[in-house]
Amino acid sequence: MATENIEVKERALNFLEEIIEESMAKGEKRVQTRFPPEPNGYLHIGHAKSICINFGLAQRYGGLCNLRFDDTNPVKEDVEYVDSIKRDIKWLGFDWAEERYASDYFDQLYEWAIVLIKKGLAYVDDQTQEQIRENRGTVAEPGKPSPYRDRSVEENLDLFERMRAGEFEDGAKVLRAKIDMAHPNMLFRDPIMYRIIHAEHHRTGNKWCIYPMYDYAHGQSDSIERITHSICTLEFDVHRPLYDWFIAALDIFPSHQYEFARLNLTYTMMSKRNLLKLVKEGAVMGWDDPRMPTICALRRKGYTPASVRAFAEMVGVAKRDNVIDLGKMEYCVREDLNKVAERRMAVLNPLKVVITNWEEGKVEMRRAVNNPEDEAAGMRDVPFSKVIYIERDDFMENPPKKYFRLSPGGEVRLRYSYLIKCEEVIKDAEGNIVELHCTYDTLSGEGSSSDGRRVKGVIHWVSAEHAVEAEIRLFNPLFKTEDPFDTSEGQLSWEDNLNPESLIVTKGYLEPALAAAKVGETFQFERVGYFCVDTDSVDGKMVFNRTVTLKDSWAKINK
Ligand code: ATP
Ligand code: MG
Repeated sequence: MATENIEVKERALNFLEEIIEESMAKGEKRVQTRFPPEPNGYLHIGHAKSICINFGLAQRYGGLCNLRFDDTNPVKEDVEYVDSIKRDIKWLGFDWAEERYASDYFDQLYEWAIVLIKKGLAYVDDQTQEQIRENRGTVAEPGKPSPYRDRSVEENLDLFERMRAGEFEDGAKVLRAKIDMAHPNMLFRDPIMYRIIHAEHHRTGNKWCIYPMYDYAHGQSDSIERITHSICTLEFDVHRPLYDWFIAALDIFPSHQYEFARLNLTYTMMSKRNLLKLVKEGAVMGWDDPRMPTICALRRKGYTPASVRAFAEMVGVAKRDNVIDLGKMEYCVREDLNKVAERRMAVLNPLKVVITNWEEGKVEMRRAVNNPEDEAAGMRDVPFSKVIYIERDDFMENPPKKYFRLSPGGEVRLRYSYLIKCEEVIKDAEGNIVELHCTYDTLSGEGSSSDGRRVKGVIHWVSAEHAVEAEIRLFNPLFKTEDPFDTSEGQLSWEDNLNPESLIVTKGYLEPALAAAKVGETFQFERVGYFCVDTDSVDGKMVFNRTVTLKDSWAKINK
C-alpha cells in the first residue's frame, strides 16, 4: 500500500518542527525519525499520535521514518503483534522507509558492550536483583558500589563471554555500565546493560540468552539507523542523559532524543499491559472490540484513517502532560463521516404504522439522496408500502407545544416520501401503544402538501415488508469514570470503574439497500448516528456497530 498523500495544513509550528527548522537553518540536511513499538500488544490511539508525529515530521521535511520493533524482551513479545502493528500503521496511511528490529543489532550491541568493558566502562556483577536494588541508594543517599565493580577487564571479558555462552542461570549475573554510584540521576548508578534470559526469541530463536536493556539498546539502535530526531514521550526525559552517555562513550553517530507529552484521553485507558488483561479475562471481545482504544478497534468501529490523523493534528504536540476530552476524537470522526458516509434509513426502536388509505400490496420506489455532501454519491430507491416502521420516539400521545413529530391528529413528513397524519392510536390490553393508523396526503409526494400547508417535522421510516433485520451494537465508553484509575468512591482498582453499559445490543430494521453493505462500510443512519458493518456479520445476519452518535450526547450528560 502506498503512503496516502496527506495534506499538510497551514498552522503555527509545533516545538518539534521548530527544532527541526532550526537545525536545518544551521545546515542539517536530513530528517530521519523512527517509530519504535515494542511488539507486546496492539497499538492504541496514543501510539497513533506518535505515528502521526514521527511519520508526519519525516513527510513534512522530505525525510524518512523507519519502523523499528523494540524487541529486546523475548518473554512478552510475539509475531502476532508485529503483524498487527504493520497493518495498523499502513491503515493509518503511512509507510516506513525500512522495517528494522532491535534484535537485528544484537551482534553489534554485543560488540559495543565489549568495547565498553575494554574501556573500563562496564563490568559483570554477580549481585542478585534485590542486592542491586538495595545498593542503588536513594535520591538522598548515594549507592554502595558492588563488590564486583572492580573486576579486571580480562575477568569481565571472560565472564561476559560465558554469560553469552549460556553458562549461567537467569538472574545469576548482569552486565552493568560503570558510571557513578553517587550520581544524582539514579539511572546513572551503574545501569544494567544486559540480563540473562533463557527464552526463545520470536526472531533470533535460541541464539541469545542475554538480552540488552532498553537504555542500552535504544540509543544505539537509533545511532545505527542514523536517526536524527529520536522522538519519545516525556517519561523518557530522565533517560536522555544516559542515552547521550552511551553514544559518547562509544563515539558513534550522535542521534538526539526529544520528548513530547503522551496522549491521555478521558474515559480511556492506554496501557498495553492492562488492555491485555481485559482481553485475557474476556471483559471485551478481543483486542479489536470496538470499546477498546486500539487502532484495530477504532477501525472495526468505523473510524476512518483520516479522522484519526485529524484528531492527532487537533490535539497537537504538547510539552506538558494533559488529558484530552474523548469528545474531541468523536468530533473528528463525525466531521469526516459527514463528508464521506452515505445516508440510509434505519429504525432502531420500531413503532408500526399502517397507512390506511394506501392500496394493499402497492409498493412505490422513492428516490433518496445518498450523500448531500457529495453529489457524486448519487441516488437510490427506497421502497414505500402500506405498513412502515417509524422510531417510537418520533410519536408522542400527549406532545408538548412545539413538538414537530407525530402525535394524534398531527402531521409529519416522511423523509423522501409523503406527509402522513395520525388518525388512530391502537393499544394493547395493558395500554401500550402497538400501532398507529395514519392516512397520507396523496399529493404530497414531491415535497409540498396538497394545499400548501406547512409541516415542520421530518422523520425517517422503513417499509416493514422490505426491512432487513440486523443486530445493532451501541457502544458507550468502557469506563464510567473520566479517569479510569479514579478511586475516590472507594473503588479498589480500575476494574471497578468498568462501565456495565459499555455495550448495548439491540435490533434494527434497515432499508433494504443496506443488505448489500460490506464489512467495514460506514453509513449515516439518518437522524440516528453513524454505523459500520461489523466483522461478525454473516450471510443472513448483519451486525452494525455504532461508530458515533450524530451529536455529542454523553460528554455533556456526564459532565
Ligand atoms: P504502553 O505503556 O501503552 O504499553 P509503551 O510506551 O510501552 O505503551 P511502546 O510500544 O514502547 O509502548 O511505544 C512505542 C512508541 O509509542 C513510543 O515512542 C512511545 O513513547 C509512544 N507512545 C506510547 N504511548 C503513547 C501515548 N499515550 N501517547 C503518545 N505516544 C505514545
Ligand atoms: Mg514500552
